[in-house]
Amino acid sequence: MRMMNTDEGMKKGEEKATVNLNAESSGAERTARIAEVERKSVVQTYTRQPILLVRGSGARVWDASGREYIDFVAGVAVNNVGHCHASVVEAIRQQAKELIHTSNLYYTENQVLLAEELKALTGMDRAFFCNSGAESVEAALKLARKATGRSKIVAAIHSFHGRTLGSLGATYKPMYREPFRPLQEADFVPFDDPEALAAAVSTETSAVILEPVQGEGGVHVPKPRYLRAAREICDDCGALFILDEVQTGFGRTGKWFGKEHSGVMPDAMTLAKGIAGGLPMGAMLAAESVSDVFKRGDHASTFGGGPLVSAAALASIGAIREERLVERSEEMGRYLRSRLSEEIDAIDVRGLGLMVGVELAANCPEIVNRARERGVLLNATSDHVLRMVPPLVVGRGEIDRVVKVLGEIQREP
Ligand SMILES: *Cc1c(COP(=O)(O)O)cnc(C)c1O
Repeated sequence: MRMMNTDEGMKKGEEKATVNLNAESSGAERTARIAEVERKSVVQTYTRQPILLVRGSGARVWDASGREYIDFVAGVAVNNVGHCHASVVEAIRQQAKELIHTSNLYYTENQVLLAEELKALTGMDRAFFCNSGAESVEAALKLARKATGRSKIVAAIHSFHGRTLGSLGATYKPMYREPFRPLQEADFVPFDDPEALAAAVSTETSAVILEPVQGEGGVHVPKPRYLRAAREICDDCGALFILDEVQTGFGRTGKWFGKEHSGVMPDAMTLAKGIAGGLPMGAMLAAESVSDVFKRGDHASTFGGGPLVSAAALASIGAIREERLVERSEEMGRYLRSRLSEEIDAIDVRGLGLMVGVELAANCPEIVNRARERGVLLNATSDHVLRMVPPLVVGRGEIDRVVKVLGEIQREP
């Protein structure tokens, strides 16, 4: 058994993970050794920061040398309830003793309880469970095809919807799509521009897919009327309106879901990232009018909605509710944006709740490196935009520290 919360337990876990990699070595040596082995053992699709993370709690993580970091990346908007939240850990521990996996050939209780919970939180009518954001987008795109008998998709410039062959076609960045053509690619229209959307959608469109706030594209917040206009445009043409809430869900934007900022209801909604307290899970929620389009056998997932991840999701949602983390996201997000605006020389500070973008003239990947050296983890979505998506449990002191570090970096030569 690995007990991550005691020093002794930590040691055991670490030794186990590095048993062939010289358990005696210092943190720096272990990090260098793992990085070296990784190059030869893991497909090189990631640009990694040179730290080896071993532990997390709340809005902090620790590396193999025992260095502490304030985590403004949070698994990229995953750890909404904070790292290793006690009730999520306990729910996983309890469920793991009972049943970890069975099959969707059988009923399991947690999946159904979670579907009910998601319906109540979103106003949607049915859930399909899968294991990631891209898979939830796949499910929505398949649903739209079957519901409309059409195949064209309209998405926004700077969108991100995933990397699988279907979802990649709706992801904007040409660099991501180009090596994998032919794909079924979306027509990309400027975000937050209802006229451009209206011009692109026709009776050949199966779906319009949008993020309520664009995440990977650099944290772009549309005017509330944009999503309402999108809803109408879809209705006029008989296209499905898909809202990709993979990143904006579960309190991230200061509401339970991003769609609440504009009061729209989509036909399908995609969820993942913050859904299960850090465990991999995705869900596609559908309105009753289209959910029956999927018949038995039309779609499936071996792991989707399994008892363990569903238990974690129920616990995570419970924690968000009990600790009022949605309200906290709104309050702390406001505080973070105001502190940044006061202290940082930025081109733009934008966002909703604790989904914040800071546009700078400076080279953001370089700032990410310097901040890490000062104990702050940040993410750059491009050369000039920092994305801040800390756990919703983050405190004012931690926000102050991050803003101070950024200010110091800016004043450096
Ligand atoms: C991260 C993200 C995805 C993809 O999720 P994966 O779990 O990495 O497949 C899809 N849509 C949005 C809006 C995202 O932020």
